[in-house]
Amino acid sequence: MKNSFHIKYFDKEKNKEIYLPLEKMVGILLALEIDINFQIETLKAQAIVLRTNLLKDSRSLGKDNRRYKIKPLEAYKEIWRNKYDENIEKINRAVKETEGIIITFNDKPIDAKYHLVCGGSTENAENVIDNQVDYLRRVLCNHCIGSPYWNNEKAFNIEEVEALLKARFPDIGENYNCEISGFIENVEKDEHGRVKFIKIGNKTFLGKELIELLDLDSTRFNIYPTGVKFVSIGKGHGLGLCQWGAEKMAQEGSNFMDILNYYYTGVHIRKVNLPCIKKPLLDKIIVIDPGHGGEDFGYRGVNIGLLEKDIVLELSLKLKKRLEELGAIIYLTRDRDQKILSDERIDKANQIRPDFFISIHMDYYPNSDMKGCEMFHFREDVESKKLGSYILENLKNKQVPVRGIKEGNFYIFRGVNVSSLLIELGYLSNSEEEIKFKDEKYINNLVNGIEEGILKYFRY
Ligand SMILES: [Zn+2]
Ligand SMILES: [Zn+2]
Repeated sequence: MKNSFHIKYFDKEKNKEIYLPLEKMVGILLALEIDINFQIETLKAQAIVLRTNLLKDSRSLGKDNRRYKIKPLEAYKEIWRNKYDENIEKINRAVKETEGIIITFNDKPIDAKYHLVCGGSTENAENVIDNQVDYLRRVLCNHCIGSPYWNNEKAFNIEEVEALLKARFPDIGENYNCEISGFIENVEKDEHGRVKFIKIGNKTFLGKELIELLDLDSTRFNIYPTGVKFVSIGKGHGLGLCQWGAEKMAQEGSNFMDILNYYYTGVHIRKVNLPCIKKPLLDKIIVIDPGHGGEDFGYRGVNIGLLEKDIVLELSLKLKKRLEELGAIIYLTRDRDQKILSDERIDKANQIRPDFFISIHMDYYPNSDMKGCEMFHFREDVESKKLGSYILENLKNKQVPVRGIKEGNFYIFRGVNVSSLLIELGYLSNSEEEIKFKDEKYINNLVNGIEEGILKYFRY
């Protein structure tokens, strides 16, 4: 269990963050989010939906996520009573048989929306949440017709509607005659206010007939509305999976794959090799490229003569060690003081085809006041921009001066086929800044900041 992927959850009652293994959390939420009496295939589909959302939200499931009010499965003993063991077994089976399976779109977990009953068709995302989502498209669903939540009636009296909507109905005076087309029409009264004729529904009555039929006290009557009934079809926002529709599909022999593919458009459903809490970068491949080396020493510090090639190698070796501890597979373009041509670096990267290529350098500028760490991305490489800004954010928190991220057109960028980031750690032309690079603590701050940025970038 220790090595499984954990979900951070803010426990309101205990007022603290707790960590639960992912699969355990899926089971807890399954009990909470769906009718336990549903078919096993429906439960499996829902388990995958929940797991997907947990991984998608794992960045935010901490303090600000109160979406789920979880309770431990033991708490269902009182509710399920003699069906408790049977239901727990069912939950465990749904979780176990879908272990690690999630729904992805473009290789990322989707926002797997679901609701109780769609009422005939699900919705396009832009009609509900204002932005278009490729996999949340309208699909016809006649599976949920006649399900328990198909029709929902809610009756209000006039005063309630006025209060809830802060709206006013017209003042009803003495001589108010309520005519509602098709229901009550053609009310005809004599000069004393007595009803002579009235059409109710498809029938016309004499006022005096109504006295008998409805046991009224006189023909001098008015009709007032007292209430409104709203009848809605379906229950929920209508996005993504319709639970009762899914259940009907399962009853008719569909499995969880059929169900999920039906309600989410164009997605992949697959088992992911989940990183665990100790190895959050499991199987991520990164090439770190310490610049220069050998006779090409890069820049030389103005103050104490530190060499760029030494600083970037020291930092790269430390970074490699740290990222490997987190499960990543790290390649260096050089691991000692050795001259490597740019083309060799490019070839190596393109053979390995890593998830990211990161070049490390030091900068130099005629104006000796210039200082701080700066990032470069290639053209419209959004991934590189994202990683660069995550790293900068973390460096800032570590008292490393930062300059920002901008576009660069380096030879190495043009050659390497994967997302690449170039980091200029600081200025060797600034004597104060140069001295910092002699301090192991400063190097460690840089390593920590880069590591945390990488972690944030690769987190699900
Ligand atoms: Zn439906
Ligand atoms: Zn350089």
